[in-house]
Amino acid sequence: MLNKLRLLTPGPTPLPERVRLALARDMTHHRKKAFMDIMMRVQERLHVLFGTSEVVLPLSCSGTGAMTAAAHSLFAPGQHVLVVDGGKFGQRWRFIAEQRGLQVTSLEVPWGKAVEPQAVADALKAEPDIAGVLIQYSETSTGVLHPVKEVARVTRETKALLVVDGISAVGLVPCPMDEWGIDCLLTGSQKGLMLPPGLALLALSSRSWKAAEANDTGCFYFNLPAEKAKLAKGQTLFTSAVNLIVGLDESLDMLLENGLDAVYAKQWALTMLNRAGVAAMGLTLFAPEHFAWGITSVQLPAGVDGTEVVRIAMEKYGVCLAGGQDHLKGKIVRIGHMGWVDWADALAGLHALNRSLIEVGGYCASREYMEVAMSAYHMALKGKPGQALPTIHS
Ligand SMILES: *Cc1c(COP(=O)(O)O)cnc(C)c1O
Repeated sequence: MLNKLRLLTPGPTPLPERVRLALARDMTHHRKKAFMDIMMRVQERLHVLFGTSEVVLPLSCSGTGAMTAAAHSLFAPGQHVLVVDGGKFGQRWRFIAEQRGLQVTSLEVPWGKAVEPQAVADALKAEPDIAGVLIQYSETSTGVLHPVKEVARVTRETKALLVVDGISAVGLVPCPMDEWGIDCLLTGSQKGLMLPPGLALLALSSRSWKAAEANDTGCFYFNLPAEKAKLAKGQTLFTSAVNLIVGLDESLDMLLENGLDAVYAKQWALTMLNRAGVAAMGLTLFAPEHFAWGITSVQLPAGVDGTEVVRIAMEKYGVCLAGGQDHLKGKIVRIGHMGWVDWADALAGLHALNRSLIEVGGYCASREYMEVAMSAYHMALKGKPGQALPTIHS
């Protein structure tokens, strides 16, 4: 083996050694005190991570399971929802809602663009029976960050519940649920939380709980009110994902040891590093304005086969990048920088992208892209997360 494997994908993401060691511990029983104590400790810190005083339910499923649980718990067949559809995961909301028998209005957003909060307001005004707005915070297929804070300003004045898929956002970009007025926030373990896949987390606002308690979920496994009652005793309804929760105990320690602001500052700096480096290579950023803090999507020059770029980066450099999906297949490359990824991993990613690109006949505008990337990183760390940097020239 020549290279270390570097997972720069938008999930799963690399695991810190501390988390791996926690995951390796022997089994404990999910109905006994030692585990219940861990559940309680985890719960306290999940309130901080989600920015909520409501319970954060651990569910044994991947992120899509939590999306399913939300759609089934909050809405009844025949109810009307608005889906913000600007990529693969927006589509997934639509499929889940349709399968639940909901009437779906799609608010289509061009891939690479963020939704206009005003468009949500207009849609809710035009169809006042809409009971929920389903959206991604970070649309991982395009690398776009939707303006959830502004959308929440709209929904909280209406009866529509704002249901946010924060799977590639929680632990990566600020998302204070209560402060913003989000009605449902959910995530998965394998992105910002530095854990293996298999655990989802879901929180509801008080008005969402009212809806969930009045609703028949039509589903045996996902019963959120019953999960909530069980969690009060430090337990889950069915067998807990014991090791993942023990791992979460450790990863929350890591995320909170210097405060969440430090985590977001690092994520912002990595985002600036990637964006500056990619731009210095002469490549176009696919999400030019509203971009995620855990993934950078890169438009490849016409004629360059992105699938080949991704293959070479993996085979020659050990860097696992993600390609595009659907009509973007072969056209974009997505660099993940979620969770346990640092500046050195990000530089390895840029270098692998650059070399692989040249190898397939692409072009590099600058040999100084690493220097530019690192200048952006340091500048971003000194500045305020979310605040644009001056253009850095190579
Ligand atoms: C990864 C991801 C999902 C899918 O999560 P699974 O854990 O694979 O079910 C859904 N939505 C977003 C925004 C994601 O990034």
